Amino acid sequence: MSSFSLASRLDGALGGKTAKALERAFAMHTVGDLLAHYPRRYAKRGELTEIALLPLGEPVTIVAEVRTVSERRMQNRKGSILEVIISDGHGNLALTFFNQGWRKNNLTPGRRGIFAGKVGEYRGAKQLAHPDYELFDDEETARMTAEANAHLPIPIYPATSALSSWQIAKIVALVLDGLGDIADPLPEHARARGGYLDARTAIERIHRPDFEEQIAPALETLRMHEAFVLQTALLQQRAFVRSMSATSRAPGVLLEDFDAALPFERTPDQVAVGDSIADDLQAPWPMNRLVQGEVGSGKTLVALRAMLQVAESGGQSALIAPTEVLAAQHLRSIARMLGTRLAPELMPTLLTGQMPAAERRKAALRVASGQARIVVGTHALLSASTTFADLGLVVVDEQHRFGVDQREALRAKGTAPHALVLTATPIPRTVAMTVFGDLDVSTIRTMPPGRAGIDTYVAPIGEKPAWFARVWERIAEEVGKGHQAFVVCAAIDAEALSRADEEESAEGPVDEGGQAPRTRWGVVQVGELLSRHPAFSSIRVQILHGKMPSEEKDAVMQAFARGDIDVVVATTVVEVGVDVANASAMVILEADRFGVSQLHQLRGRVGRGGVPGLCLLVTESARGSLARERVEAVAETLDGFLLAEVDLDLRGEGDVLGGTQSGARSSLRLLRVAKDADLIAQARILAEQLLLDDPALVRNPGLAAAIERRVSTEERAALAKN
Ligand code: ADP
Ligand code: MG
Repeated sequence: MSSFSLASRLDGALGGKTAKALERAFAMHTVGDLLAHYPRRYAKRGELTEIALLPLGEPVTIVAEVRTVSERRMQNRKGSILEVIISDGHGNLALTFFNQGWRKNNLTPGRRGIFAGKVGEYRGAKQLAHPDYELFDDEETARMTAEANAHLPIPIYPATSALSSWQIAKIVALVLDGLGDIADPLPEHARARGGYLDARTAIERIHRPDFEEQIAPALETLRMHEAFVLQTALLQQRAFVRSMSATSRAPGVLLEDFDAALPFERTPDQVAVGDSIADDLQAPWPMNRLVQGEVGSGKTLVALRAMLQVAESGGQSALIAPTEVLAAQHLRSIARMLGTRLAPELMPTLLTGQMPAAERRKAALRVASGQARIVVGTHALLSASTTFADLGLVVVDEQHRFGVDQREALRAKGTAPHALVLTATPIPRTVAMTVFGDLDVSTIRTMPPGRAGIDTYVAPIGEKPAWFARVWERIAEEVGKGHQAFVVCAAIDAEALSRADEEESAEGPVDEGGQAPRTRWGVVQVGELLSRHPAFSSIRVQILHGKMPSEEKDAVMQAFARGDIDVVVATTVVEVGVDVANASAMVILEADRFGVSQLHQLRGRVGRGGVPGLCLLVTESARGSLARERVEAVAETLDGFLLAEVDLDLRGEGDVLGGTQSGARSSLRLLRVAKDADLIAQARILAEQLLLDDPALVRNPGLAAAIERRVSTEERAALAKN
């Protein structure tokens, strides 16, 4: 039998056609990629639930046969419902799928399969909405019916419409049969002490367990591998940055003058973070620090002080912001904070893609000559035509909108400049350790005194439909008082959503909880609603979303900032939007569709000036449901760190990080930073010890190989994104 390793290419290990299919469906290239595609769950024939006994609200797995299939249009909104009746010989059960008519092509009467989902109720009858299912071919039907196999757990893999779980299981089995020895990433002493399985056994048992009891130890081992490989990689990256030599930047009179002229006391957190940064900048290696603090906590001040320290020895600082408007806003506030004496000396300069060519050329010249010691800009800073005389510090604002690649691209404009990353998304400690494990992390927890604050209310329109009208009246009242408002929607166009739903669902289950479909609100629909609303007849409403050309978006933001627009109806593009001190109210529709931290982030847009803010969280989610709990948590506290922990507990790290922090996300498979906090911490200590002893991993080839595989997976993910 041929033997291959985790690094072997799939097209060598399998037929070319199969390899192509795996590449297309899951971007897999190697045997290691395939074997890291773990089952989502396991079904066991002996434990299958009888339809007659299905418990409401519980996850179940049923082996049954398709009886009838019917599709009908929905009455109250666009779209269709596919209803499939299955039977296990004792009872019948309905499966429902919204807007997935294509499923009738394989869910044909007479076919047997395994169906998994949560039992819901609709109009008094039990049903499974959007279940996972696997249809058997004849061979599998025979296997499932054989008494001898009653104990065998059946792995259920994440599948697509083109590659079923059953096919994946067969491919995995083929590869496992031909797999040679695997070098363990975990050193032997750690493996023995932690009671972990060897790598080969763990991989075998997660894919092909003989008994259910084999699954948990295999999972534990592979979870540890993941944490350990990740922490080692991050610590190596950190060590790599520390091995570079940077220009040490000592503070001097610029910073002294600035502090002396500051009209307020710095908060204790600002002082502490400032001290860490001051030390970092004087080290002989580049600073690599993340500062997290909520919107308005004073991060810009901290960053500006770092720039002044660098400027003391003639060094330049570049601040890169995610949008033109934000960059311009940063420049204005920096110029204002520097005051009339320091500003001319440091020449803060804006450099963005949308500047008129002549102006931009002038700005670029100032940057290249080193005259401008503070440069603020957008992606234009990364362009080849932008050069610096002496780039000493790179500041990246709003980390979650940037990837590591961009941070590194900007860094490459200087010789090992210091780097400071600012984020307004509070990150729980274990997440920081996992995602930003190569950075030093500082936190500004306290807010400067004297903010007007923000009141948040839940509008539960499921139980109290009348509140929906009240919400709009309330907004009209705010505008009547001379203030401005945001309306945030989860979607651009609710009408177009039915199509999107269909595409998404090819990936996996959509948990509709067996409930009737809810009303969707897109930016477009709300814009129309308000244009017809009598209370809004003299109110200037504009829509804003990510599909608009960026000049148009900027124009709307700027008009809103000037006060030429009263109400902006937008998607989450406003999350990192402009500072509008006059904006006092925000409505968030379908609030339960957002993460807890995201809701908190969004409402940070209002109540920024002297006017107290009002935030109305509109939701149809049922009282007592998890979705409702999350929305209520946001209404109950203003502590962003507390909310980040809530998010982590309730939903997992993906939502804390946001969709764009994908480099780390795509590589987390079994690890869950909330549940596995202890394991991650343990892995970090283990990695630290090992690297002290063997920094280049020459005596740990299994670990070195695992890191290399991981890095190449990430690079591919990054490439696929661009
Ligand atoms: P962030 O960048 O974290 O959103 P900023 O640095 O922009 O916060 O600060 C928000 C506002 O608070 C600015 O107007 C700033 O001048 C002010 N500010 C910052 N630190 C303090 C402080 N310690 N006391 C009073 N006001 C402060
Ligand atoms: Mg800021």
